[in-house]
Amino acid sequence: EGLKKHFPTSKALIPGGGRTVKAVDGVSFTVVTGETLAIVGESGCGKSTLARLILRLTDLTDGTVKFHGQDIAKLSERQMRPLRARMQMIFQDPFASLNPRMSVAEILTEPMIVHKLGDRRERRERMNELLGLVGLSPRHADRYPHEFSGGQRQRIGIARALAAGPELVIGDEPVSALDVSVQAQVINLLEDLKRRLGLTLVIISHDLAVVRHMSDRVGVMYLGKMVELAPTAELFASPRHPYTRALMSAVPLPDPSARSNRQILEGDVPSPLNPPSGCRFHTRCPYVRERCRTEEPLLDSGVACHFWREIEALPGPDRTAKP
Ligand code: SF4
Ligand code: MG
Repeated sequence: EGLKKHFPTSKALIPGGGRTVKAVDGVSFTVVTGETLAIVGESGCGKSTLARLILRLTDLTDGTVKFHGQDIAKLSERQMRPLRARMQMIFQDPFASLNPRMSVAEILTEPMIVHKLGDRRERRERMNELLGLVGLSPRHADRYPHEFSGGQRQRIGIARALAAGPELVIGDEPVSALDVSVQAQVINLLEDLKRRLGLTLVIISHDLAVVRHMSDRVGVMYLGKMVELAPTAELFASPRHPYTRALMSAVPLPDPSARSNRQILEGDVPSPLNPPSGCRFHTRCPYVRERCRTEEPLLDSGVACHFWREIEALPGPDRTAKP
């Protein structure tokens, strides 16, 4: 609720620095047990920071994160430790996120040691079980990360995330560093694991095809704000926020009739150092009106736009015209 992460920038490092980057600036949502929630947006919209805030891998500037009703933002690191086993992250880059000096066996047993799970023999058994879960053989246990392909490394990263038996797994662009040919295998693996282990997934992605395939609901982010939150089928069938519509129309669609609403976004994403007033999308929105420049729209009925109802009522091909 009300999640904010503001970073001070250094004058020395960034031209025009010494100001504040509002990476996440007032985001509220719920993750429902057992669902897959996707958070989508262009790079720099704050979606990775949001993931880190949920897991408290970075401190909140403001807001609360409740896990089964308990506000984890207020816990000490020590109080947080038992909860860490229940919420885990899969990172984007399986090359950077695995310690090259640790064998697979060490990588997978480390979380069990940290969380004091089982004795030596039980940890070894669990490790073999984890390898099986992610489709690797126990023969791989004594090898090192560099001996594996990108897809295999991400399987190891997934096994590590599962080692302590989490309920909630957050994947930050879990397949975007992988070859397209192995992306589908890793996506299918995540879906299979979710079903078998009863996981709750949050998938952070810029890839609408991945999001559409995997998620039950989607949150769309733009410049540190969530601008739309809807069930996946609804969002893809009838996106309501002008930014979501523009995002969708930028990807090739199998349905040619949907192309009549094609909309190209003009201009660059403004800097989060100095985000636009009112609606942050107003500098690029084809429907902008005076009110948008001063009054910030709230995420109300799942869409943060003052005029979404009027825009939705416009006939298809005319949707690009201003209301
Ligand atoms: Fe566009 Fe205004 Fe809606 Fe923002 S509030 S998305 S500028 S119409
Ligand atoms: Mg990111």
